[in-house]
Amino acid sequence: MSAQPKQSLAVNPHRSIEGIYKAPGLHWVGDGFRVAGYFSVIPNAVRKLDPFLLLDYHPAYHYAPSEKPRGVGVHPHRGFETVTLAFQGSVAHHDSTGAGGVIGPGDVQWMTAASGILHKEYHEANFSRQGGTFQMAQLWVNLPKTHKMGSPRYQGIVAKDMGQVRLPHEAGLVRVVAGTFQGVKGPAMTHSPMSLLDIQLNEGGTVSLDFPAAFSLGMVVMAGDISINDSANATLHDFIVFERDGEHVLVNAKTKSQLLVMAGQPLNEPIVQYGPFVMNTEREIQEAFVDFQGGRFGYLED
Ligand code: MN
Repeated sequence: MSAQPKQSLAVNPHRSIEGIYKAPGLHWVGDGFRVAGYFSVIPNAVRKLDPFLLLDYHPAYHYAPSEKPRGVGVHPHRGFETVTLAFQGSVAHHDSTGAGGVIGPGDVQWMTAASGILHKEYHEANFSRQGGTFQMAQLWVNLPKTHKMGSPRYQGIVAKDMGQVRLPHEAGLVRVVAGTFQGVKGPAMTHSPMSLLDIQLNEGGTVSLDFPAAFSLGMVVMAGDISINDSANATLHDFIVFERDGEHVLVNAKTKSQLLVMAGQPLNEPIVQYGPFVMNTEREIQEAFVDFQGGRFGYLED
């Protein structure tokens, strides 16, 4: 008999921070989107953040009035989803399935390219004509192998339909786009388990984020200064990548803050990407080119 009971290994319920990354320099996508491409500065980002493939964040920027809407012309996608979140200003989208829509502040467009679409993305015409401040984010979400060649789908989700959780003690507001937070479900339909949250915290406000330890987790600080697990600090435009070693993250807002939080179950499937095509094998990328050049992504007028 041992004299003393074995000390149980204390499992740290907190997730560790893998890294806190500063925003890369801004670059233009077309002539309408002035973005920071965060995944380009995070080594092995698509593994650490699987199933997320890309985050282009467009910080607030003032555009002068323009009769010709700024944006990106017709281009293809296959094998994944583009998720566009408008925070200020309005974005218009049209695609080769005939789907299209305009999203404004607080709205989200969840576009499943799957087997292939052509689309164009522009500032909405009235917004463009008047000019104004524009702020948005676009996230690319990978599709499981079994859904890559499925049918395209467009979900236009307006702000009033988001899941909403008011945090106690006037700490702030959690808008649930996808997945659940404290039992409140977001409206977006996804192809694998994930959560996408827009979190607004008042100064001193605290939020506890709990996702399965196996989920990838990342967040971008869109406004303010925060502390994480009472041990690390992050500031405006930082992107925080977490390890998959715990369930719990505590965020405290040192100043009024806003976070975009993405969490998801990794697909753990091979990724072969060539520009706007994200598949599992080189051969499937070649097929994507053949299909695109053969007009099998449909037609969309410029
Ligand atoms: Mn696109």
